[in-house]
Amino acid sequence: MAGELNKNKDVVYNEWGQICSQLKTEVGEKAFDCWLKPLTVGSYANGVMNICVPTRFMRNWVLTNYSERIHKIWEKKNPEIKVINFVVQAGEDPMIGNHNSSCRSLLKRIASSPAPQSVYLPDDDNLTFMPGEYSLSESGRSLSVPLNPLYTFDTFVVGKTNEFAYAAARKVAESDNVPFNPLFLYSGVGLGKTHLMHAIAWHIKQRAPEKNIVYLSAEKFMYKFVRALRYKDMAAFKEQFRSVDVLMVDDVQFMSGKDSTQEEFFYTFNSLIEEGRQIILSADKSPSDLEGIESRLRSRLGCGLVADIHPTDFDLRIGILQNKARLLNCELPDKVAEFLAQKITTNIRELEGALRRVVAHVQLLPGKQISLETTQDVLKDVLRSCDRRTTIDEIQKKVAEYFNISVKEMQSSRRARNVARPRQIAMYLAKQLTSRSLPEIGRKFDRDHTTVMHAVRKVEELLAEDKSLAENIDFLRHALEA
Ligand code: ADP
Ligand code: MG
Repeated sequence: MAGELNKNKDVVYNEWGQICSQLKTEVGEKAFDCWLKPLTVGSYANGVMNICVPTRFMRNWVLTNYSERIHKIWEKKNPEIKVINFVVQAGEDPMIGNHNSSCRSLLKRIASSPAPQSVYLPDDDNLTFMPGEYSLSESGRSLSVPLNPLYTFDTFVVGKTNEFAYAAARKVAESDNVPFNPLFLYSGVGLGKTHLMHAIAWHIKQRAPEKNIVYLSAEKFMYKFVRALRYKDMAAFKEQFRSVDVLMVDDVQFMSGKDSTQEEFFYTFNSLIEEGRQIILSADKSPSDLEGIESRLRSRLGCGLVADIHPTDFDLRIGILQNKARLLNCELPDKVAEFLAQKITTNIRELEGALRRVVAHVQLLPGKQISLETTQDVLKDVLRSCDRRTTIDEIQKKVAEYFNISVKEMQSSRRARNVARPRQIAMYLAKQLTSRSLPEIGRKFDRDHTTVMHAVRKVEELLAEDKSLAENIDFLRHALEA
């Protein structure tokens, strides 16, 4: 009997692991790390599964946003599971250390709240506060997250890869009417979406101070919504949006998942658009590529102007470095700028971070100037990891080699299984190991993004049941990351 119970427990542990990897791809790494990673498998008996959640707040969040999905996936895997309970584990949260910093501070405060009614934060608190930021207008205060004073049009360097998004942002900021609605900005991480949104807000604030501008992240929108639901305060929630002239929601990819939040967003969105208020949104994908967002909402999101910011090119990186060096009040030799612009290509946040580190280093040592040697020395770790970053070309080569086909065949239109499966695996690995978008990966295989999306899903499905495939993929992953 005990043996049987243990076996069952092993099975559910395994299944939970698989469910977690599936959820991670569905909801994205950030949301997963924040809300789902801290969950652990508790007891299981007679079809009733207990999942442990560290805090009440998280339990509510998981119940509202993810429980249905978890139930659905698990039911499919193991029909014996009839009920899933989410149980709050007593005591201080041992998992808090695993969260990213914004979740961490939020959870710490929640965990240390003595009474359940103080679990929620006061209205003007937010999930992404940064020091040195300022709040928006009085009326927008209760909803809006503070703006970063450094994110203005003046500090935004324009190049070929972002000129369209910049022009669109300026147009919205400078127009008295609503030129296109919504303006939807999208790009990979660290390429300037948030910067542009804040710049629009600053500009409008200066030009028309009476306007009520609200800037918030999709996570915060959801958080507010869940709280309103819990306190049966939907009327007040809606009222907050009624007086908004410009609504900006950042990172709407995090709205994926929970239907009722999307529904509410949809109504808010529609009524604001109908009343001629400006809406500006950002995401890491184009509206049509957003996963987990209802198709009705997706098509509505794309009905204004969609502007993407492409990965940076060398010239823009140089421009940004020079501009940033000026702001930091330091002398940056051309050679060093060129070196950094060549080496750190993924995103602007990393590039800025690298420069800041070098500057901080030389400023600590009197008389020291920025040189190529110091730069290389200070950034040893960053540079090493940049060199090691896997490319799609390498993935194609390695996977083709492993399955004994040629890269040409992999990119060809052949559908024979011995070619199609390695192709899907390579697409899956490209999504997992690189920061490239689905359309970018697709181009490398001469396919469109939907084929890549399908391949990724297919491999995930197969992984859940095919052990040898999982081993093959593990081997390839290690070989590529070595
Ligand atoms: P995203 O929201 O797309 O992830 P951010 O707007 O947060 O990216 O940008 C990351 C960092 O890079 C910020 O510090 C921002 O100021 C800087 N940055 C991005 N694009 C530019 C640009 N064109 N000129 C100057 N700084 C930029
Ligand atoms: Mg951003």
